[in-house]
Amino acid sequence: MGILQKIFGKEEQAAAEAAPAKECTHSSLVPRWDDPADMGYEDKVTAYTCSSCGESFSPDQKTELERADAERIREMQEQNEAHRRELEQQEAQEASAENKE
Ligand SMILES: [Zn+2]
Repeated sequence: MGILQKIFGKEEQAAAEAAPAKECTHSSLVPRWDDPADMGYEDKVTAYTCSSCGESFSPDQKTELERADAERIREMQEQNEAHRRELEQQEAQEASAENKE
């Protein structure tokens, strides 16, 4: 029973870890200039194109994406921390259960 629980537990964990990767976070945005004379000036960028999914964003949207990205990273760190504590608790519970057997 303990072995089955461990196998299924690992599968669930792997699925949970793989799921967020499908969603594009638009983290690699490439700037585009309509006027070649403006090229290189970040404040004159016409639009940004995501090199992962090809979606295009206005400079305002890019700023918003960066803000959301920073927020996402902060949340991810908090989740990792919560997950780490959860694992520690599980390990402690498993250790005490094994001692009883
Ligand atoms: Zn993208």
